[in-house]
Amino acid sequence: MKKNKESEKIELLLPAGDFEKLKYAFAFGADAVYAGIPLFSLRTREIGFTSENIGEAIEYTHKIGKKIYLVMNIYAHNMKINAFLKELEKIVSMKPDGLIMTDPGLINIALKKYPNIDIHLSTQANTTNWTSVEFWKELGIKRIILTRELSLKEITEMHKQVPDIELEAFVHGAICIAYSGRCLISNYLNHRDANQGTCTNSCRWLYQLGYEKGSLLEVEKEQKIYSKENYTPPPDGFYVKEQKRINDKFPIMEDEYGTYLMNSKDLCSIELIPDLIEAGVMSLKIEGRTKSAYYVGMVARSYRRAIDDFYDGKDFDKENLRDLMRLSSRTYTTGFYTRNPRQFGENFDDGYSQSGKYRVAGIVRDFNSQTGLAEIEVKNRINVNDEIEIITPQKKEIVKINKILNKNGIKVESAHGGAENVFIPIENNPGEYAFLRSKIK
Ligand code: SF4
Repeated sequence: MKKNKESEKIELLLPAGDFEKLKYAFAFGADAVYAGIPLFSLRTREIGFTSENIGEAIEYTHKIGKKIYLVMNIYAHNMKINAFLKELEKIVSMKPDGLIMTDPGLINIALKKYPNIDIHLSTQANTTNWTSVEFWKELGIKRIILTRELSLKEITEMHKQVPDIELEAFVHGAICIAYSGRCLISNYLNHRDANQGTCTNSCRWLYQLGYEKGSLLEVEKEQKIYSKENYTPPPDGFYVKEQKRINDKFPIMEDEYGTYLMNSKDLCSIELIPDLIEAGVMSLKIEGRTKSAYYVGMVARSYRRAIDDFYDGKDFDKENLRDLMRLSSRTYTTGFYTRNPRQFGENFDDGYSQSGKYRVAGIVRDFNSQTGLAEIEVKNRINVNDEIEIITPQKKEIVKINKILNKNGIKVESAHGGAENVFIPIENNPGEYAFLRSKIK
């Protein structure tokens, strides 16, 4: 029997990189968001909150009856401890719904000083078995954010062995090629440490194979010039092999640009929502504090609908997956939940997001019900006569752009991303939160 009471539904947890993204996450269906604290969360370089304005975000969230968790998940060195404790005092007084932490020492201090604060153990702590879950529960941890390398079977066992602790699982977004973020690639290559919040995503970079005789570079040397036009791919069967495991061959695909040897596909587990609920997970987490408001809104929309459909006893609506496919991604994998993805979890072809056939054309910033004109912040070029989709949290509607006016009311034929806002007629008020999506021609 499926649960259908609103309060018993699994939590949908979205990233809030800044205040705007937080509002879009909630408008499109998030039950809760997580946001970073400068200096003490991973992704420290990109976050849009400060310890001053985070209070405003907490207030807004509580006013609309939702939850916000604050991320303080660095592994601190000695020199950061005093600063951390000072910040912690400030943050706790703002009454967030939980703190996401990793460092056992800092967790210990936080729990002793503030026994009433809920602490969620970050995925960075890599909890991989039920005895660890039990350990953290005994220490006073309220929720475990599971490491992404677990199967559904393992999660089920954890929940069975330690039922009275909350389990949160990542369902969507970028995955590290390293073990849930424990990685030194970025630190090694340019002294920016993933475990201090300053990862440069070095695993996504373009690499070329080594210099040994018989290697690809030998082939290139013979070709003299390394360019797309005269590039000849290396002979079939290039692979990496470890000397003691000579039968295990890890294939390397390379094109004229090189190889993206460590570039993981993105996680997308929307079709596994019933299985994750069944396994005992109580919160579904979306990755991506650095992603745009459009991305956050669209991902929230798909997962919200899929969750609600499940509780309403409806079949999975493939349109929710199609909408996710229409977003930028490094192509998708269901990760480790149902199998070990091995090379099927990596995208060897390129390191950049693929926007596919669709893109965000703009964001509706205002609607004048007297003139019927919507003010649009243009993100990508729109033209008169284009067909675009207006996407709101509730519906999608295809409309044709009959005219575009600039801020002086003068008709223009097109508008470019990043230019001044323009105005287009729309029959019905799309509401406060609406995106325009267009097909790439
Ligand atoms: S370099 Fe890649 S694998 Fe390493 S922490 Fe950064 S995103 Fe993760």
